[in-house]
Amino acid sequence: MDSIQVSSLWRNSATSPHGSGRGIDIVAVTRGNLTVRFNNSTVGPQSQAAMALRNEVYNSMVNDQRVSQALDPWWVKSKIPGNTYNQPNVWQQGYPNGNLSKKRYNFMYKHRHHLHLTIRR
Ligand SMILES: [Zn+2]
Repeated sequence: MDSIQVSSLWRNSATSPHGSGRGIDIVAVTRGNLTVRFNNSTVGPQSQAAMALRNEVYNSMVNDQRVSQALDPWWVKSKIPGNTYNQPNVWQQGYPNGNLSKKRYNFMYKHRHHLHLTIRR
């Protein structure tokens, strides 16, 4: 990777890992002249190469033992004991949606325009 565009690190929050400095929000990653934006809300379809870079970044993060959550517009995965999940981000399908809880749906919606990473405690 040549550059990473971050939109938030620590912020005052009692309800997210950003409050304890363990949250990283990434909006774009660039390698050479290829940029992927972690956004399928205000950014339209991206090239196959851009999505391959997204997959590479996302997979490297979910496979890193220091990362307990990786949430982006296409997938949400949590490895936090007692709160594990691993499923597509279906925010575009709207709510209600099958047996998806309102809480999970809102969570997906919140991650429609960035990659959120939680660093393990
Ligand atoms: Zn975040």
